[in-house]
Amino acid sequence: MDDTILVINSGSSSLKFAILSNDGDRILVEGIAEGLGSNQGRLTIKFDGQKHFHALPTSNHKSALIQISNWLDINESIKADLKGIGHRIVHGGESFSASVLINDDVLAALNKCSELAPLHSPAHLKGIEIAKSLFPTLPQVAVFDTAFHQTLSPEQFLYGIPAKYYQDYHFRKYGFHGTSYRYVSAKLGTINPQSLKQGVLVAHLGNGASVCAINSAKSTDTSMGLTPLDGLIMGTRSGSVDPSLLAFIAEKEQISISDTIDILNKKSGLLGISELSNDCRTLEEAMLAGNEKAKLALDMFASRAAKQLMSAATTLDSIDHIVFTGGIGENSSYIRRKVCDNLKAFNIKINAIKNTDMARSEICLISDENSSAHIWVIPTNEEKMIAIDTINLIKNEPIN
Ligand code: ADP
Repeated sequence: MDDTILVINSGSSSLKFAILSNDGDRILVEGIAEGLGSNQGRLTIKFDGQKHFHALPTSNHKSALIQISNWLDINESIKADLKGIGHRIVHGGESFSASVLINDDVLAALNKCSELAPLHSPAHLKGIEIAKSLFPTLPQVAVFDTAFHQTLSPEQFLYGIPAKYYQDYHFRKYGFHGTSYRYVSAKLGTINPQSLKQGVLVAHLGNGASVCAINSAKSTDTSMGLTPLDGLIMGTRSGSVDPSLLAFIAEKEQISISDTIDILNKKSGLLGISELSNDCRTLEEAMLAGNEKAKLALDMFASRAAKQLMSAATTLDSIDHIVFTGGIGENSSYIRRKVCDNLKAFNIKINAIKNTDMARSEICLISDENSSAHIWVIPTNEEKMIAIDTINLIKNEPIN
């Protein structure tokens, strides 16, 4: 058997994991522990085409990782091939511009930037600590959502607020989905090597959604900010709003600013506008059945995505490629068409037939011949990127 890597994505109330071959191409085992922090936590493990369900004695990250470790003890041959653990880390602050092997200095730096991602960082740190105690011989690697965007210039990452807030508190745009953007940019480079020296716009459209401008394979702007709330309209997140709105909602509803931000994070976006669902598929079905609010939510989502793409494009030398990725970007021909319809002033033209007839889960070119930029659909694979970084760092080889 090959060497394999355990990839862990430890969220605030869930923990996803996968065991991948060292080239990242094959998933041998994958699973999710859900309901962590509630009294209904359970772990699902998918292996050999079958799903196995495990109740968690206590619904927390430790219990989930212990169950995964117990499962590996039973499946000895899979455990024997494990060579390392790669952790997805949402916020690396300004300390990390690339993936790193985790040691005490890295843990200290992670602790330091944890206040910037209070929902995610405690779960990541817990995940690392528990994995270290359960798998003491395996090297561990941290792969950051923010790292790819550390190439942004101050002109792009600073907010127009008093300079001392950046100097004293590091309040700035960090951007997220970086692992996905790095993967997609490299993948496009394998099929179109020229793109690595050109201007590429990527729309990562999923439940969380953002865009990124990539000039010569480096991120030059992105739509999420200090936190993943900024930018596009998302499943339940509002994206950018007039900041004064917070004070108005807080006053009218007699709630705190933090409860107001909670509404912008969890009750807004597609869900808030449609008053039906945060799920694009459900909304498309409702729209086809005549639901006007579902159509409005989808059209607003697409319009805002197009606007953010062109805003990020101001940092490019030219717009040569537009890439759609993420659950919605890869699967919704309606959203892709709507986004591109909003870009007609830039002579960006999608081919209606290629857009609807494209093969799922494959790289497809869906632009019209006379479009000013190539339009692609490229399925993202963040787990693969994490596995590749992990194996490269363990072998002391450069990471791209
Ligand atoms: P995240 O990783 O941010 O949680 P995903 O990238 O998995 O989200 O994307 C989830 C979104 O993708 C959901 O809104 C879902 O409805 C949408 N989606 C998945 N498949 C389809 C499809 N066939 N048509 C339209 N939307 C889809």
